[in-house]
Amino acid sequence: MKVGIPRALLYYEFAPMWLSFFDELEIEYIISPKTNKEIYDRGRNLALHEACLPYKIFLGHVDALIGKCDYILVPRIGGFGFYDRMCTRYLSTVDVVSNTFRDDHIKVLPFNVDYSSRDTELASCIKIGKTLKKKKRDILRAYIIARQAENTDKQIRKNNLKLALKKPTTKILLVGHKYNTMDEYIGRPLIASLEKLGVDVILATDIDDNYAESQSKELTSTMPWTLNRELLGSINALSHEVEGIILLSSFDCGPDSMSNEMVIRKITNVPILNLVVDGQEGIAGLETRLESFVDIILFKKRRLLDD
Ligand code: SF4
Repeated sequence: MKVGIPRALLYYEFAPMWLSFFDELEIEYIISPKTNKEIYDRGRNLALHEACLPYKIFLGHVDALIGKCDYILVPRIGGFGFYDRMCTRYLSTVDVVSNTFRDDHIKVLPFNVDYSSRDTELASCIKIGKTLKKKKRDILRAYIIARQAENTDKQIRKNNLKLALKKPTTKILLVGHKYNTMDEYIGRPLIASLEKLGVDVILATDIDDNYAESQSKELTSTMPWTLNRELLGSINALSHEVEGIILLSSFDCGPDSMSNEMVIRKITNVPILNLVVDGQEGIAGLETRLESFVDIILFKKRRLLDD
C-alpha cells in the first residue's frame, strides 16, 4: 500500500505532519518530484485556463504520481476555526482531482479539514488511517506524534528566523505563500538570484502563525483568508527589521492581488517590489527587476550609514 503525496499547494504547510503520521503508521509513501517545466506543462494542459499557477502546478504533480501509488493524498481545506476561511481553491481540490483524472481511476485520499462543518484535522487523520486499514489506537498515537513533529518544525523555523534577523546583513522579506516561495520552479530560483546579489532572504512564513495572526489586525481586521492574514501580520511585525520587501504572488491569484494592493498603500517605511509570476518561464525575465530593487535598497542603506 503506497500513498502518493503531491509536492505542491498545501504540501508545504502540512508536510512535517503528514510524513510523520505515515512514518508512525508504517505506511509507504512517495512524494512527487520537485516542480520543473515538464510538471508545470502537464498541469497547465490539465487545468482550466482560469486556474492560478499553483493550482496548475498541483495538477501536474498529481499527474506525476499516477501509476506510482495506490492512493493520492489530496488536501481539501476550508478553515481551522468556525469562522475561519481559506481561499476557495483549496476547497475544490478533491472534486477537481477526481474529475480531471476520472479516466485514470485514481483513488483519492482526502485530507479534509473544515471546522465549520466539524471536519477536524484529527477526524480527517482517523478517516485516512481507517481507509489504510490501521487500528484506531495506532492512528491516535501517530496523530499525536505527527503534531509534535509539526510543532518541532515550527520551532526550528522560528529559531532560524531569530538568528537570521540578528545578522548584520542586508535583508529582504520575501512575502508569499509557501507553495510559491518554496517551490523549485517559482520561489527557489528567485531566492538564489537574490542571494547572488548579496542579500539575505527572510521568509515571511517563518514567523509564528499565531503571532502573525494577531499582528495582522494592526493592518486590517477584515482580511478573510487565513494565510493572507498571516502574511500581513508578518509584514507588520518584520518590516522594520529588513531593508526591503518583495511581494511574490502568482498569476492569477485573487486573494494576493487584493492583499498586496493594501500592503503597498499601508507600508511606507520600506521599499516594496511587487512580483507576479506566470508559469511560462518561471522567474526568467525578472532578474533585471531584482537587480534594480537590490541596487535601490543598497543605495538607500549606504546613504543612511553616511548620514
Ligand atoms: S490563494 Fe491564490 S495562489 Fe493560492 S490557491 Fe488561492 S488563488 Fe491560487
